[in-house]
Amino acid sequence: MRQYLRRIIQALSALLLNGYWYFPISRTIYQGQLKSICCPGLNCHSCPAAITACPLGAIQNFMAEVRVSLEAARYHFGFYVLGWLGIIGGLVGRMPCGWVCPFGLIQDLLFKIPGRKIRIPYIFSYGPYIFLVLTIFILPIWVVDAFGYGFLWFCKFICPAGTLEAGLPLLILQPTLRTMVGHLFYIKVAILFFFVAWSVLASRPFCRTVCPLGAFYSFFNRVSLFRLRYHPEKCTHCELCYRDCPVDIKFYESPNDSRCIRCLVCMRQSCAFGAISWEMGGTSELFVQGRGKGATMK
Ligand code: SF4
Ligand code: SF4
Repeated sequence: MRQYLRRIIQALSALLLNGYWYFPISRTIYQGQLKSICCPGLNCHSCPAAITACPLGAIQNFMAEVRVSLEAARYHFGFYVLGWLGIIGGLVGRMPCGWVCPFGLIQDLLFKIPGRKIRIPYIFSYGPYIFLVLTIFILPIWVVDAFGYGFLWFCKFICPAGTLEAGLPLLILQPTLRTMVGHLFYIKVAILFFFVAWSVLASRPFCRTVCPLGAFYSFFNRVSLFRLRYHPEKCTHCELCYRDCPVDIKFYESPNDSRCIRCLVCMRQSCAFGAISWEMGGTSELFVQGRGKGATMK
């Protein structure tokens, strides 16, 4: 039941964040006031239906303009986006990845396609941190053009969500753009197809090996107000939570692991022994339900 609720919220959020349904007629992207708000998940700013901005694009934009701003004595630090993401992370950690990110939903649905499934080796979980540091912060400020402006490295060279939600639809809507397609676009389409194929075989490969937004939220997982609690005295080490976890976490070894997308599958679906509960700002689910206390938290 809880997973149906999560699927409904994921679908509603994808529809809401992409609520400019006039685009087939206008054939252009939404440019209204709501675009000044950052989406909590990965949703391309240039998607014709998107009504909010992508936080990764906003941070890269800021970093790409830092040199020019400093030379012009404009000391603007762009704390709005980082502060917004920090507030969300501080409240619920990586929960937006599991509940509101449209590209997360797409990967979840692809993984539902029946067939042989594979696990992603743990070593790949360092990938998002490398992409976060390099493509979001360092390269946009380091490599600049003749005028001192940097590039949006992640958007320009990698983001498969951008290719799917913006690049391909805009080519359909605006035929004149097709004459401008070059090698880079085909490389990005290949990256998109690579992750689509990988998502059929493995759960959420993009989130787990590349996504810089998930990497940012992950810093908050162990300290956010909403957290999961482990009750070792009830755990039988049956490993059902590990079997069902979409990001291959052994909950009994690492509750609130940085990779946890807070989907709550382990708590609501897998664990039949009550070894997993949640807490909000120090108040536990068990306390709320009047069933007792005594959980262990890591
Ligand atoms: S499903 Fe519950 S009882 Fe089984 S290993 Fe996980 S936490 Fe322990
Ligand atoms: S540990 Fe539990 S809540 Fe976290 S991703 Fe795995 S199944 Fe979901």
